[in-house]
Parts: sequence; structure tokens; C-alpha cells
Amino acid sequence: MPPSGSHLIRTALRRGLRKRCPHCGEGRLFSGWKHIDRCSVCGLVFVRNPGDTWAFTIIGDRVPVGAIIVLIYFGVARSHPQLGLSMVIVLAALGIWTTPNRWGVGIALHYLSRVYWPDPADPIPPPCATLAGDAER
Ligand SMILES: [Zn+2]
Repeated sequence: MPPSGSHLIRTALRRGLRKRCPHCGEGRLFSGWKHIDRCSVCGLVFVRNPGDTWAFTIIGDRVPVGAIIVLIYFGVARSHPQLGLSMVIVLAALGIWTTPNRWGVGIALHYLSRVYWPDPADPIPPPCATLAGDAER
């Protein structure tokens, strides 16, 4: 069984948001804009099969972006077109800037699904010391 549920979830999501390995919190998820295959510290394979994080990326990335565009279009852009256009440009820049962080959360969600529904063929490294303790905040 995985260690205390809510702590594990918060820790993994925070690490994903920081673009770090959700398992150990040390290894990097990305090299530039390209995600790395496995953690250089604990050896966790981030995406076991191509497309494994597809659903998490849709939920964490595409749906919020689509909702924001719809809210701006039907909210502000109809009454104040220039303000609406400015908001779209600012949010697009913010969206592009935070893309690796959101992808990291998607990888962390995928990791959590592997922890909670383990597959014997899926090698998750043994627990790391940083996950068991409260070494990081
Ligand atoms: Zn790691």
C-alpha cells in the first residue's frame, strides 16, 4: 500500500509542478522543452508507454485553457473587444510559459495512478527517503 494518501498526492503534485520527479523530488522531468525518459536519481520511468499521460494532459491542460478562452470570449470580449484580445494575449503567454509545469502535473498524476493501481510489470523504484520523511516543504 502507498504511504499516507493525501501527503503522497500533495508531494507528488508539488514535485510535478516544480518539474521534478514525482517519486524522489530530485531528478528533472524536462531537458528544455523535451521530457526526459527516466529519472536520473531514482530511475523512475516517467511515461511507460507513449500516450500514458494523454488523459491527464487533456484534463490538466486543454480543458482549463478551453474554459478560459470560452469565458473571455463570452464574458469580456463581446462587450470590450480590445480588453478581451489583451486578456487572450496575456493568458496565452502565461499558458505557454507554464506549459512544462502543467505537463509535470500530468506526469505526477500518471505516477499517482501507477502507485494506487500498481501493475506488476510496471517498475516503480523503492520508496525514497525524501518521500517517507518531511525533509522538503
Ligand atoms: Zn526520481
